[in-house]
Amino acid sequence: MTSSPHSTSRAGETRPGGASADRTELVTTAEREAALLAPYAMFSADTAGREREEAEHPYRGPFQRDRDRILHSSAFRRLSGKMQVFTGERGDYHRTRLTHTQEVASIARTIGRALRLNEDLIEALALFHDIGHPPFGHAGEDALDECLRDHGGFSHNAYGLTIARELETRHDGTPGLNLTREVLACQKTRIDKTTGPAPLLEAQVVDLADSITYDAHDTDDAVKLGMVTLDELSELTLVRDTMAQNRRRLGDEAEPYVQRKALVHGLIDRQVSSLLQSAADSLRQQRFRCAQDVIDLGFRLEHDSELAGQKEELEAFLYQRVYRHPELIEMRARAQSRLAALFGAFVSARNGLPAKYRRRIDEVGLHRAVGDYLAGMTDRFCNEQFEQVVGRPS
Ligand code: MG
Repeated sequence: MTSSPHSTSRAGETRPGGASADRTELVTTAEREAALLAPYAMFSADTAGREREEAEHPYRGPFQRDRDRILHSSAFRRLSGKMQVFTGERGDYHRTRLTHTQEVASIARTIGRALRLNEDLIEALALFHDIGHPPFGHAGEDALDECLRDHGGFSHNAYGLTIARELETRHDGTPGLNLTREVLACQKTRIDKTTGPAPLLEAQVVDLADSITYDAHDTDDAVKLGMVTLDELSELTLVRDTMAQNRRRLGDEAEPYVQRKALVHGLIDRQVSSLLQSAADSLRQQRFRCAQDVIDLGFRLEHDSELAGQKEELEAFLYQRVYRHPELIEMRARAQSRLAALFGAFVSARNGLPAKYRRRIDEVGLHRAVGDYLAGMTDRFCNEQFEQVVGRPS
């Protein structure tokens, strides 16, 4: 094996921008970030702390602890049983809310690392970004919003905050995950999207990675499930250009499943590379001195207009041909009527709620407590509860 120039560093040598190679003591988060992050990144040392004060951890930074708290929460694990676009009735190939979240975290970290942002914060935000999704995706969200229309409505972003602040329990028995104010503030900017301040760059990267991820994987799932063909997709500029590039690499005879995989890879790579190019250009021009400058200036990272237009074209196609597919519309209607019926059943018979949610009625009222219980369910558990509590439809 040929050794890289880095692996030949001798003990005691200091690598550029790094620590001495023979150093044996633990490197603190502050030291590591000082060596690696750009001035516009969110530094752990600058955190505004937590709503309930806690001592610092000896070797884990505040955003790393946030990431761990989210990863170990029960709401996070339940994402494996929540649909992204397709329910489990369509087999096991397609993405769940959990695998979507993992793909977002991976892509967001790639972008964040290249831009020298805080990867711990990015990962925490990515793992958290869809944690408030109820069963049956946006169909479930709309159904609960309707059920709670006279009680403040329902949104998955607001419910994510409820999970973080109230519904989870930590290992010391205290309520909520007690996340840093930065993670909570970033979630709030998702709620007040148009009216609130610009979020930290780490949060902006997660939102951009979310869209890069679902554009690529929904395309893949839709082809695999036979809803659209590669030929139909190749009418779209972004897909056509990506497939042409892939053909130059793979030749014309590649198997369709290889073409499909190459398309997902190409869609992600194209979008990430283009975003990094435009982000590097605009960050170089802005010369931000700290993360607060980004917020104060209302700066937004975005795709260049050409790629943004190509993404719009792909998303409009996916909306028409996949999200509005008759099969999905039917599933959506079935899920919504189940959630509405379950909601009504628990409102009329509150004793059927688990003790935790019966107690919650005193704090947030009956309707919100029922909504919070239903929103935490997986798709499968929701279906089971429907059959047990409401009964099979005749
Ligand atoms: Mg998402």
